[in-house]
Amino acid sequence: MPGPDFNLNGKVALITGSGRGIGLGMAQALAAHGCAIALQDIDQDLAEAEAQKLRGAGGQAIALGGDMCDLTLPPKLVEQTRGQLGGIHILINNAAIQSEQNWLEVRPEQAQREWAANLLAPIGLCQQVAPIFRKQRWGRIVNIGSIQQKLGNPGMLTYAMSKAALENMTKALAQDLAKDGVTVNLIAPGYFNTWRNREHLRTPEDRAREAARWVPMGRIGEPEEVAGTALLLCSEAGGYITGQSIYVDGGMGLR
Ligand code: NDP
Repeated sequence: MPGPDFNLNGKVALITGSGRGIGLGMAQALAAHGCAIALQDIDQDLAEAEAQKLRGAGGQAIALGGDMCDLTLPPKLVEQTRGQLGGIHILINNAAIQSEQNWLEVRPEQAQREWAANLLAPIGLCQQVAPIFRKQRWGRIVNIGSIQQKLGNPGMLTYAMSKAALENMTKALAQDLAKDGVTVNLIAPGYFNTWRNREHLRTPEDRAREAARWVPMGRIGEPEEVAGTALLLCSEAGGYITGQSIYVDGGMGLR
């Protein structure tokens, strides 16, 4: 009896913010299963260095740049991906701005930038890929949320709000695209050892302290640990899952 099908040969994925961290981990996992990858990052050189490594390992990969706050970007990214890799089947909305300040100090300009990158760019990208996915009757959209979407956080108000809204968007789009062979899901990471957390997780002692405080498993996640869930949701194996938020958080949301 054949087992679950994780093969992504012939598929093309666009992953925003994938020059490093969780996005890069997902890119590497999908590439290892045959997927061609458009690595997008505000630092295009970072993305190009990683694309080169994927090509060196026998994969197909390109690097795309741009700031996801720029709302003219979504159509360009989809066009570049299709033009250079011959199609698009998977979209992972991973890039996000995370500002930290007491909610009383939130300023409209900063909130607008954050919501542009975290919400309006994902909507724009979904609007671009939906007609393509519908036509080919196959597509996968994975939004990267956060544990904050359900906990709320007065010190990260606008970020947590954006992730809660992304969860709502996931449910809405999942219903609309369900009959077209297109799934839409969200992965909510907990607390990970990535660049954005470098100030909080500088030393092993910092990591142990933060983990003991927040994570029932007692350790901070490594970026590659989100990749297995992404692979499931992007492959045939996950084809009957839609509209879901899957927490990859070492139990953090249980507290
Ligand atoms: P990292 O900061 O480690 O990596 C994200 C990459 O995206 C960086 O290269 C970053 O560039 C780039 N990027 C940031 N803003 C933009 C933008 N506006 N346009 C294009 N690229 C951009 O982040 P993580 O890997 O930690 O996070 C990935 C996702 O996971 C995010 O959606 C985040 O909200 C979510 N998440 C992460 C958690 C964690 O603990 N790490 C917990 C919960 C959710 P630069 O470094 O120059 O900003």
